[in-house]
Amino acid sequence: MSDDVYEVYAVRYGHHDRRSPENFIGGDPHDVLQPLDFYVWAIVGEGRTYVVDTGFDAAMAERRKRDLLRPVGDGLKAIGIEPDRVEDVIVTHLHYDHSGNYDLFPRARYHLQDVEMAYATGRCMAHAHTRMPFEADDIVAMVRKLFTGRVAFHDGDNELAPGITLHRIGGHSKGLQSVRVKTRRGYVVLASDASHLDQHIDEARVFPIVYNTGDVLAGYETLKRLATSRDHIIPGHDPNVVARYPAARPGLDGWAVRLDADPVRPR
Ligand SMILES: [Zn+2]
Repeated sequence: MSDDVYEVYAVRYGHHDRRSPENFIGGDPHDVLQPLDFYVWAIVGEGRTYVVDTGFDAAMAERRKRDLLRPVGDGLKAIGIEPDRVEDVIVTHLHYDHSGNYDLFPRARYHLQDVEMAYATGRCMAHAHTRMPFEADDIVAMVRKLFTGRVAFHDGDNELAPGITLHRIGGHSKGLQSVRVKTRRGYVVLASDASHLDQHIDEARVFPIVYNTGDVLAGYETLKRLATSRDHIIPGHDPNVVARYPAARPGLDGWAVRLDADPVRPR
């Protein structure tokens, strides 16, 4: 493996049963069961591992009425990653399901967009509606990391390492960033919540939690431009991801999958 080509994994840790109208601005005429899954992702190269997002823990699952399927740390260990050895964590945005478990990576530096930190600590959090997907403890934990030199800020698009770039998309959260990774099958884009489900990007529809609808819609075009093909864009919460890609290791079906491998099932 050349040193700018990486393995990429999705680790499914949570689940939430809901009806489809909850997933779209304007609802959904079909009104069918359309659950969301919760993931963290890992990028593994020669001698270097990047974890993308940190998920939520059991206490938060209880508080938010979500199902914690398996703790994030267990999922990472199952694919050979020891959380306490991880040196870099990319935080796509600071929503509770992406930035919890804040003590799981004691050695890590956290990569975050300037705008996301400013948003999560600024005037918009004065409104209950806007702060709903954030948890004060997650944000405070990030501020504490900042004061111990463990936050690396990014402003817009940036190369984190050869073959790994960050792309600020905004929209869903003001400073949301997606991650593009060079793999053996081309450029895979971890969209995170730039597209919750395949349907959002494919039908240009918008998830109801949003900072700026125009930026969400423009973001879909950015994702398509960044990825080698539509099959290289990985949505943030689609249960289809674990169904479509091969298990990372025998026995991990439905839990951890390889995203640098070709899909085994169509979308
Ligand atoms: Zn989100």
